[in-house]
Amino acid sequence: MPTDYDILIIGGGINGCGIARDAAGRGYSVCLCEAGDLGSGTSSASTKLVHGGLRYLEHYEFNLVRKALIEREVIWKMAPHIVHPLRFILPHHKGLRPKWLLRLGLFLYDYMGGRKLLPPTKTVNLKRDETGKALKPEFEAGFEYSDCWVNDSRLVVLNAVDAENKGAKILSRTKVTDAQYSGDHWQITCENTQSGKTIQFSSKMIINAAGPWVDEVLCSIFGLNDVQNVRLVRGSHIVINKKFQHDKCYIFQYSDGRIVFAIPYEDQYTLIGTTDAEHENMDEKPQISPQESEYLCQVASDYFREPVTQQDIVWTYSGVRPLYDDGASEAQEATRDYVLAQEKSVSPAPLINIFGGKITTYRILAEAMLEKIASLIGKKGKQWTADTHLPGGDFAVGKMGWEVEKLHNNYPFLDKTYLARLMRTYGTCSHLLLEGVKEKSQLGEHFGGQLFQREVEYLIDHEWACSGEDILFRRTKQGIQFNAQQTRQLARFVQHYVEAKSGKVTD
Ligand code: FAD
Repeated sequence: MPTDYDILIIGGGINGCGIARDAAGRGYSVCLCEAGDLGSGTSSASTKLVHGGLRYLEHYEFNLVRKALIEREVIWKMAPHIVHPLRFILPHHKGLRPKWLLRLGLFLYDYMGGRKLLPPTKTVNLKRDETGKALKPEFEAGFEYSDCWVNDSRLVVLNAVDAENKGAKILSRTKVTDAQYSGDHWQITCENTQSGKTIQFSSKMIINAAGPWVDEVLCSIFGLNDVQNVRLVRGSHIVINKKFQHDKCYIFQYSDGRIVFAIPYEDQYTLIGTTDAEHENMDEKPQISPQESEYLCQVASDYFREPVTQQDIVWTYSGVRPLYDDGASEAQEATRDYVLAQEKSVSPAPLINIFGGKITTYRILAEAMLEKIASLIGKKGKQWTADTHLPGGDFAVGKMGWEVEKLHNNYPFLDKTYLARLMRTYGTCSHLLLEGVKEKSQLGEHFGGQLFQREVEYLIDHEWACSGEDILFRRTKQGIQFNAQQTRQLARFVQHYVEAKSGKVTD
């Protein structure tokens, strides 16, 4: 019997959206349902690194590190607007890992992953180098190596935009509540979490990409009991006012064996994270605990000349890692690799679960999933995502400055720092966002920070934004600069615009 879709994907995080894009591009009919906003789960709460994971070498995760290292340059080329290279300073700490071990790890890191564009590791004299100035004088030597930074929540949305461009149906604010096996297919029920309306459709197969909710979905929708495939490990970050003036990052080792990053964030801030805390309850939004914020201040203060205190914190965020439960005793030792597992116990129609994974490996996870899909419902298309830009990313790496200049030539009356932010957020889609603007006043109402009505409407019209929070903390990071009154004002505007728009649609 023909079904409405070939594939239903539960969950609009990076893994669900990456699979939707890949599958739609190969010609499968795809529906993706996301209970909240796209990327509102773990995928907007990461450290935002596209990295091999230096520390995973200590846990002998060579395969994961190698494939993640290779992905760095692939993802950078796919999305040079939202991905950029970073240099990390790893100070040698006399009481912790010896220099030879750091050197060996970094040697492997440099040569395992087919690095072509990113510069190699070098040693740094922290007594002379600019990066040493922010550190305590006892840190005299260190290493400098490469990884990449990604705007995580935008990576999710751009995958969803491209999936939709290729024919996928993307339903945000749509929770999958039931799935019944019927004949040779799934009959699925979803509920719109804003209107309460339910919809039903059929699909040949289901992919459970619910991240930290993956086990809950198995229990509540598919009727399994007591499953524990993932281990829920909360990671939190603090954001403080800029702690150093250069654009490099730090990776600090701590006496418990963990590492903590300090990364330049949104021009004016420094992002410090992360933690590993067992997490119990996925019903509530994860939040940093007092112990976690104390821990992060402590680690940073061990290295920085000026201590980091609770009073320095301007914002925090937390996310929950859905780590595959491989039986490791410590959270930090659990594998960061992904597992794709078909659940055969619930029905003859295919259901595949995703356990674990990283932002960095989402694209190859999608490719691995597409192989499984082909074996279950028939092959369509071939691998294509490695060489194809995400929306707005159709320019060469290293040409960001040039693209900002082009945008400025078209809109000379707009501030260059504003245009640079648009370019880092929307890439060449900035031209679409600004189309027809002839003078600054045509950007419309100013809500705060660098946020104007034109951008807000663009995000609602093109990127499924439907609340102030979607815009302030996921599509952009302007929210850190907003006060309560500005936040309320934006929320009111968004609500009115969304209501008017849906009225137009139903008329
Ligand atoms: P999610 O992003 O959580 O998406 C799952 C989605 O499913 C959610 O949006 C949820 O609303 C939805 N959902 C649940 N139930 C239903 C339902 N019934 N119907 C519809 N939708 C449903 N990785 C890196 O590569 N680099 C890093 O620097 C990095 N740092 C990290 C730091 C921290 C603190 C954490 C927590 C993780 C980090 N990771 C990093 C890992 C990475 O963020 C995650 O592996 C990844 O985001 C998981 O994506 P996901 O799509 O599987 O899950």
